[in-house]
Amino acid sequence: MSTITKTSETKIKNKEKNLKKATDSNDLDTVLDNVKKIDVTCCFTKCKKKTSDFGIDCKYCSSRFCTAHGLPEIHGCGEAVKRDEQRKFQHLYTAPSQEKHNQAANKLTAKLKQMQFERKGKQCSNKSKK
Ligand SMILES: [Zn+2]
Ligand SMILES: [Zn+2]
Repeated sequence: MSTITKTSETKIKNKEKNLKKATDSNDLDTVLDNVKKIDVTCCFTKCKKKTSDFGIDCKYCSSRFCTAHGLPEIHGCGEAVKRDEQRKFQHLYTAPSQEKHNQAANKLTAKLKQMQFERKGKQCSNKSKK
């Protein structure tokens, strides 16, 4: 576990160094070109796949990954996804007003009444048969 963190730290440091070197130039086109060159590889540690043609931008860490590492769960944004989904879930289930809840309760009461009614009807027909 610690080795992975170390490698990723080194990679980030290297990238920062490269970026600094790239942005050192006074020519804006050269700078952009250099940054692009650095940014076309998958951001996943140890992965050197090019993402210039095919890449997935993660909305959680705003890094670019190859198709194999594009899923947030795979490159380490799983927690962010969970948090995001939890927020959505809470929004979804706290938003409906009491009205909807009442509607559901009314429906249940109506169903129960109908069941009671049907049972009574059966009992009556049983009695009349005897
Ligand atoms: Zn991510
Ligand atoms: Zn990758």
